Amino acid sequence: MTPRVLTVLGATGTIGVNTLDVVARHPGRFDVFALTGATQVDRMVEQCRLHRPRVAVMTEQAAADAVRARLAEAGIGTEVRAGADALIDVSTAPEVDTVMAAIVGAAGLPATLAAARAGKRILLANKETLVVSGQLFMDAVAASGAELLPIDSEHNAIFQALPRDFRGDFQAAGVKALWLTASGGPFRTLSAEAIAAATPAQAVAHPNWVMGKKISVDSASLMNKGLEVIEARWLFNARPNQIRVVVHPQSIVHSMVEYADGSVIAQMGTPDMRTPIAYALGFPERIDAGVSALELLGRQLTFEAPDTTRFPCLQLAFDALTAGGNAAAVLNAANEVAVARFLDGAVPFSAIARSIAHALDRLAGGVADTLDDLLESDRQARYVAGKYLERLT
Ligand code: NAD
Ligand code: MG
Repeated sequence: MTPRVLTVLGATGTIGVNTLDVVARHPGRFDVFALTGATQVDRMVEQCRLHRPRVAVMTEQAAADAVRARLAEAGIGTEVRAGADALIDVSTAPEVDTVMAAIVGAAGLPATLAAARAGKRILLANKETLVVSGQLFMDAVAASGAELLPIDSEHNAIFQALPRDFRGDFQAAGVKALWLTASGGPFRTLSAEAIAAATPAQAVAHPNWVMGKKISVDSASLMNKGLEVIEARWLFNARPNQIRVVVHPQSIVHSMVEYADGSVIAQMGTPDMRTPIAYALGFPERIDAGVSALELLGRQLTFEAPDTTRFPCLQLAFDALTAGGNAAAVLNAANEVAVARFLDGAVPFSAIARSIAHALDRLAGGVADTLDDLLESDRQARYVAGKYLERLT
């Protein structure tokens, strides 16, 4: 078998590390072309030692210099590059057939979109790309013939539960609705007052999943589910009223598809991102992921409605989806700024939803025809949300 030639964007992050864990279980099946990171020098050096990529990219110049020096010392011939442009080069290089898009935030958009335009097989973890530029991104995928495999566990579950030849026509496929499950996060049972006073340490302590800090805070606010609703809209061509959210605290059912005949097809598994990652890496084959078997005996699976009063971010995301245009880009950018300020300890948890609502009030309804329009909305939303949060500190 000729190996698949792989670029891993965001290799040093949680998804990147899990991706390389699966890759290492299948010697000869994958050829790692490039690994990218931002600042984590030690981890990148270690990954280069193990996977011997042709190129390593660190977006920060100082980190790139440090990785280059360390690799030279160790006699490892990986070429080290710095800067965001290098992310695009390694995502579009002709040798590369598969790109794992696992940078966090809108920072991942340019390289992920470039991979789509270049017709690559894209394993999409970076949901923010679809939230910011859904229509544009899906158009690019269609135009180039790129192949899109969702990594987000819910979307990967839905992908597995849909007919293999599904092309976005709910009627033709007899699909009634997509059911996204949500764990409810660490604040599921807390009062509104307790949530408002929550600390960063509480917010990143997710009950079922180990994830990067930003997505962990998003899970605590339910913004993660909101972003996933928008992600599902674009990935599967769903209307907002065809997407339902149900809280399932055990994170065993990863999501479901409801059909016209009353069937509901769910994908289940131990909560471990290596399952969706392995599914996409091996697609259409099933390959070992190193994941422990699902133990259902003695388990209770429960389902409850999400509470958009205690978790207003979920409602804000539905509102932004319905509003269309630049609203989702504004929502995403304001959220990124607010989460970063919250993690710094500068603003309370409740400021996240308030600053997003403020940015949407000020900026939604702007033009969103081109990538430049969307990036301009992203920039303005960061500014407006930042100013709003400054007034709170
Ligand atoms: P993480 O914070 O652990 O890792 C982020 C990666 O992006 C790192 O490699 C980091 O170096 C890189 N990065 C950060 N800022 C960058 C910048 N400005 N430019 C270039 N690279 C940059 O995040 P994660 O948890 O691995 O999540 C990555 C993406 O996958 C996110 O979009 C997240 O929503 C999505 N996702 C994650 C999980 C999960 O279980 N962790 C599940 C579903 C979806
Ligand atoms: Mg998810």
